Amino acid sequence: MIMANNLLRQFSLHADEYEEKAIEVLRSGWYVLGKEVKSFEQEWADYIGAKYCVGLASGLDALWISFRLLEIKAGDEVIVSANAYIACVMGITINGATPVFVEPDMYDNIDADKIEAAVTSKTKAILVVHLYGESCDMTKIMDISRRYNLKIVEDCAQSHGNHWHGKTVGTFGDIGCFSFYPTKGCGAFGDAGCIVTNNATLAKKFRIFRNYGSEKHYQNKVVGSNSRLDEIQAGLLRVKLSHLDEFNEERCRIADRYLKEITNPMVQLPQIRPEADSTWHQFVIHTEKRDELQAYLEANDISTLIHYPIPPHLSEAYQYLGKKSGDYPIAEKYADEVLSLPMYNGMTDEEQSKVIITINAFKR
Ligand SMILES: *Cc1c(COP(=O)(O)O)cnc(C)c1O
Repeated sequence: MIMANNLLRQFSLHADEYEEKAIEVLRSGWYVLGKEVKSFEQEWADYIGAKYCVGLASGLDALWISFRLLEIKAGDEVIVSANAYIACVMGITINGATPVFVEPDMYDNIDADKIEAAVTSKTKAILVVHLYGESCDMTKIMDISRRYNLKIVEDCAQSHGNHWHGKTVGTFGDIGCFSFYPTKGCGAFGDAGCIVTNNATLAKKFRIFRNYGSEKHYQNKVVGSNSRLDEIQAGLLRVKLSHLDEFNEERCRIADRYLKEITNPMVQLPQIRPEADSTWHQFVIHTEKRDELQAYLEANDISTLIHYPIPPHLSEAYQYLGKKSGDYPIAEKYADEVLSLPMYNGMTDEEQSKVIITINAFKR
C-alpha cells in the first residue's frame, strides 16, 4: 500500500537525532517554556526572516489569539478564501467575528481580484491562507490592505519556507501563523504552533497571553490562555528545522516528476504563479472524475486524500452563517474535483513510478 502521507519515512531519515534530542529533554527536568523553546523561537524567526517568533500550542491557537490581540471581534468582518481549511474560519469566529468568503482562483488560493468587492465598512482584516504550500498574490493583497487600512494575518500552516518574489510568506502581514501539526512541512511529534511578527509590542502580547496573561509568576495582566509550546516539541522541531531545506527540496523533486510525467488528459495538474515558489505541502490535482479516480487508485493500493471535501460555508458547524449550496460555486466545484496525491519525504522512485503509471492508465 502506498500511503498518501507516510510520517514514519520522514522520521526514519534522521531517527537517531530525534531520539537523542527527546532523551536530552527528558533528562533535563524542564518541560515547558525553557531553553529549547527560546532557541527554537530564535531559529524559526531567523529562518522565516521575521524579528520575533512566539511558540504556541497549535496553529489554531496562533490564528484565534492573533485576532484576539488585534481586537477583531463580534460585528467585525474578516475576509478569507472560500476553499480554506475549516480551522482558518474557526480562528476568525472563535472571537465572534464574521468570515466573509472570497472565491479561489486557478492557483487554489484566494482570488485577489475579487477581494475589493468583498470589503465593507465592517472589514477589519484579511486572513491570507497560503494553501498547499503556494503563496497567494501578496503584491495585490498588500496593496488592498494599505488602501483600506486592513490588518493582514497570514496562515502559513501549509507554507513553511516558500516565497513570493523571493520574500518568505509570513513576513508580509502583521502576523504570520504557523502550525507544526505532524503532517506540516516542519512537523512536530504532536501539536504545536507559533506566530512570527516584526512588531515588538504584539510579540510581547503573545508571550503574555499564552501563559495565562502573566509576565511574572502569579501576576496576571490580562485574561489569557494556556497555549505554551512544550520543550520536547521545541527540541524536536529544532532538529526538523535543521533539515527543512532538504525536506522542501525533496518535495520539489517529487512534484517536478509528477508535473513532467503525469500525462492523463483527464487530470489537471497544479499551477504555480511565476512570482511564487511552492514547498508542495500537498500535490493537488483537479479532475471531474475525482471520486472514480480515487476509488481506482485505492483498488490499486494507492491512498489519496481530499483537501477539502466540504467548503467551510457548507459545513454543519457554520450553518448559522446562513450560506447555501451555490453561494460560492468555484469553491464548491473545487471540493468535488481536488485530489491530493501521495507526497512525503522518503518516498521512493519506485513508489512514485507506480503512482504515475497507475494514474496514466486511468480511463473513464
Ligand atoms: C493545519 C492547519 C491549521 C490548524 O493548525 P493546527 O495546528 O492543527 O491547529 C490552520 N490552517 C491551515 C491552513 C492548516 O493547514
